[in-house]
Amino acid sequence: MTVSWWQQINFFYFITTSLLVVIILLSVLLYFKYKQVQWVKSQLTEAIDAKAKSQLVLETRVAERTHSLQESSMTLSLRSKQLEKSLTALAIKNEELKRLDKLKDEFIATVSHELRTPLTAIRGSIGLIAQEVIKPNSVAYKNLVNTAQDSSERLAKLINDLLDLQKFAAGTFSLDCTKFDLYELAKQSIYTLQPYAARYAVKLIFNTLNDKPIFVYADNFRIQQVMDNLVSNAIKFSPEQSEVRVDLLITADKVTFKVTDFGIGIPNKFKANLFQNFYQVDSSNSRAKEGTGLGLAICKKIIENHQGEIGFESESDQGSQFWFKLPLAT
Ligand code: ADP
Repeated sequence: MTVSWWQQINFFYFITTSLLVVIILLSVLLYFKYKQVQWVKSQLTEAIDAKAKSQLVLETRVAERTHSLQESSMTLSLRSKQLEKSLTALAIKNEELKRLDKLKDEFIATVSHELRTPLTAIRGSIGLIAQEVIKPNSVAYKNLVNTAQDSSERLAKLINDLLDLQKFAAGTFSLDCTKFDLYELAKQSIYTLQPYAARYAVKLIFNTLNDKPIFVYADNFRIQQVMDNLVSNAIKFSPEQSEVRVDLLITADKVTFKVTDFGIGIPNKFKANLFQNFYQVDSSNSRAKEGTGLGLAICKKIIENHQGEIGFESESDQGSQFWFKLPLAT
């Protein structure tokens, strides 16, 4: 059987149309698949972006937290350092209070001892005189009167020292300055201390290069007090038959009053605190020499109030040199 051209054309048409339909269907399918892939891709991108954003937010929060934690820990360590400092300051204050309390106890003990000793001597001497058991004008009678007089002077000195101390503490200490001759004052001071030196069997010598006036502008009474204290200490801490020398030296615009003794000296460990109130090398109640440990502290304050200097050099068991310097009057 032969296929007509018409049939051939129809068959070709059918095949072409079918192919076209298949192609169109495949294209549509591909298009939707492509769209689906695009959608999935955009979803994935969105999800990644969202994750990145939340990661960033998280990281920022973590950084903020870390920063604030660091700040808090810094504040905390600062606070703990401040606390440590306050604790140390408190401990120091506490120690200082304990020291002051001990000092107060020692002060009461020293002052009581220093008050009681001359008071006992005065009471004993006056008691014997009052009982009329000793003849007036006898040597024993004179000794009793001398004892009573010495002891009342010792009492007066202690009370004056305590009053001076109180004035320094209250800031009411003042000087009554005039222009006077320091050489004359030194001579007078040494003259009045000769009986004291004799009592300790010490030779008190005044060395001066010349006997010309040495003028200073100062408080006469207070400078004499310093001289008396330095010279009487030198005598008190010297062995019998030794010498105590007093020198007046002029250097540039200053005058130096220097006392040299060959007595017990001051051991090194006591030197730094020697000018403190109530400080004594031997502070026991059984010590051989009378005294309260106030003299040098008062001397220092007096000399410093005159814009002067005070100091000492000493060797244990070899002696000491105590000195003060004052500006010369113009
Ligand atoms: P006080 O003589 O009343 O005890 P001071 O303040 O005058 O008080 O002296 C304090 C201490 O310094 C004395 O107790 C003594 O230990 C020591 N001192 C002062 N001068 C001398 C000296 N020339 N030689 C040895 N020690 C001295």
